[in-house]
Amino acid sequence: MLATYPTPPIATPTHNAACEPLQVLHDIFGYSAFREMQGQVVEHVTRGQDALVLMPTGGGKSLCYQVPAIARHRAQQGATLVISPLIALMQDQVDTLIELGVNAAYLNSTQDYQQSKSIEREWLNGQLVLLYVAPERLLTPRFLSLLDSMYQRGLLSLFAIDEAHCVSQWGHDFREDYLGLAQLHERYPLVPRMALTATADRHTREDILQRLQLQDARQFISSFDRPNIHYTIVEKTEPRQQLLKFILQSHRRHCGIVYCASRKKVEDTAAWLVSQGIPSLPYHAGLDLALRQRHQESFVQHDSADGGLVMVATIAFGMGIDKPDVRFVAHLDLPRSMESYYQETGRAGRDGAPAQAWMAYGLNDIMTHRRMIDDGEAHDSFKHLQRQRLDSMLALAETAQCRRQQMLAYFDEMSKPCGHCDNCLNPPEVWDATEPARMALSAVYRMARPSRGSAPTHFGAAHLVDVLRGKRTTKVLQYQHQALPTFGVGQAYSEVQWRSILRQLVAAGHLVGDAGEFPVLHLQTSAREVLKGQTSVFMKRSALKKATAPQAQGTASSAHGNSVRNAQALLDSFDAAARKRYKLLKEWRRELAQKMNKPAYVIFHDLSLAEMAQFAPKNLNDLALINGMGSRKLEAYGQELLSLLRPS
Ligand code: ADP
Ligand code: ZN
Repeated sequence: MLATYPTPPIATPTHNAACEPLQVLHDIFGYSAFREMQGQVVEHVTRGQDALVLMPTGGGKSLCYQVPAIARHRAQQGATLVISPLIALMQDQVDTLIELGVNAAYLNSTQDYQQSKSIEREWLNGQLVLLYVAPERLLTPRFLSLLDSMYQRGLLSLFAIDEAHCVSQWGHDFREDYLGLAQLHERYPLVPRMALTATADRHTREDILQRLQLQDARQFISSFDRPNIHYTIVEKTEPRQQLLKFILQSHRRHCGIVYCASRKKVEDTAAWLVSQGIPSLPYHAGLDLALRQRHQESFVQHDSADGGLVMVATIAFGMGIDKPDVRFVAHLDLPRSMESYYQETGRAGRDGAPAQAWMAYGLNDIMTHRRMIDDGEAHDSFKHLQRQRLDSMLALAETAQCRRQQMLAYFDEMSKPCGHCDNCLNPPEVWDATEPARMALSAVYRMARPSRGSAPTHFGAAHLVDVLRGKRTTKVLQYQHQALPTFGVGQAYSEVQWRSILRQLVAAGHLVGDAGEFPVLHLQTSAREVLKGQTSVFMKRSALKKATAPQAQGTASSAHGNSVRNAQALLDSFDAAARKRYKLLKEWRRELAQKMNKPAYVIFHDLSLAEMAQFAPKNLNDLALINGMGSRKLEAYGQELLSLLRPS
């Protein structure tokens, strides 16, 4: 196959100042500087080298390929093909680029024949700077022949493979079609390639490099720290009420996402929130496609100036959602790995302003997950990996240390305590729980073997707590558990405390819950050491009495090495005149967005509007200095904005 593709003519690059990446950043994007790692990636890729880029959500990955694409196109090195798995993501990116005056397009199933045809034409004659396609489209004979033609004429400048973790079976979003992308290198060996992702542990990273044949690519791994996200994990008691309280307390007028494990729970929770006066929409893969898309659009396009909107969703929702002003992500169920948790919570605060990640978790979460893994169809080695991933998630939920420090450590990053997660703000007490642990474990042991020779029987957590607290329930009497030596030995601890103790015993692996609608508890081998008094058990004291979730506030210092200015901080410092200007600007943006049927942030981010309201530029030169004001936007909206900003 290799030999059939003739070497393309070597393009003679044209170089002038306009082709410099920094110039592109100023002219087109209206930003003053690259973020730390961005600058290095852009320089490397613009020179035509391969790269693997790992950057957290909101870190600025898109610019890593968009700037080289524009710079190389200006230098007459051809066009960039972006491979992206999701239609919503492509549309959003293309809308944004077009608003910036960059000739970009996508090809996907939403277009009719005529539209595709005309985009193909623009692509073939080299007019397009960037073209977005899904991998399944890319790999069709028709599209490959378009690429062949571009390649032979030296018009292919760069392949950017977005969401590259989709190529790995170890990853959480594996897509069969991504495997076919290895072909790109075989077919077009002279075209530089870059792979980008926000989540990849070492394992997945190696998989990406190998499967995409990028072993020689330079790796850029940026910090996974998201200092503007404040983490809180609470014990699940009355999850809905806890969620409601959390929203009412800190996010009454904010947009946020609530993740649930099942479709039914998504629908119930959304309906319930609505009944409590919180505007909410459900999203899961079981909803009719058109409805799902409508909900997604409403959420993405929702302007927070109109109050809050909550998206209640399964994990089907999120990839490719670029909404910058999601102020909280809440979990009503435990995610199955730290990778998922990191990615899902990472959708909060992409604009750099303070945001909260909040989760309620309890004993049943752990048992359900363990059961799902055990009952799954997967190969043993994969089950083993799944268990390890779950354990790291449990360790995060149970830790008495800084949450963020522990998360970063999972991604091989050393850091100091963050100072604003729940554990930093309210350090939990750790106590020696060896005695109650032995009570519980010995009760399980005795209940399982009522008498020598009889078949073992197992019971669930609720019954165990009744026995420990000495409650004579019907079930207790039926099994004569009032006669056990452990009956009533645990009266010193409340039911809530017992639940917390049992949960921590399960999380620590001394107890395990097994299959069935009402999971029952079994001893694990490690429990023997506790029973024999060979190991002590330390636990976190139940934090229930303690403080509620912290307010979303505080510093939004650097996520990226340089300080992140944020709209909220500016708004807080506004005088009456600035507030009035901000209101006018928001109305202007809302009307324009409606007319264009695009999300408001495609036109300008909140930060850009806030800066305009603050500094009230009086001429085009000053207006050009506003963050996000590229030359196309200045030309299109400059005069209009100046007249809006003029004192009346
Ligand atoms: P990712 O794709 O990594 O999640 P994005 O590319 O969407 O992140 O970038 C996140 C936000 O940061 C976007 O609003 C983007 O415009 C902004 N951004 C990216 N790079 C810069 C920069 N150098 N200066 C200012 N803002 C930037
Ligand atoms: Zn912390």
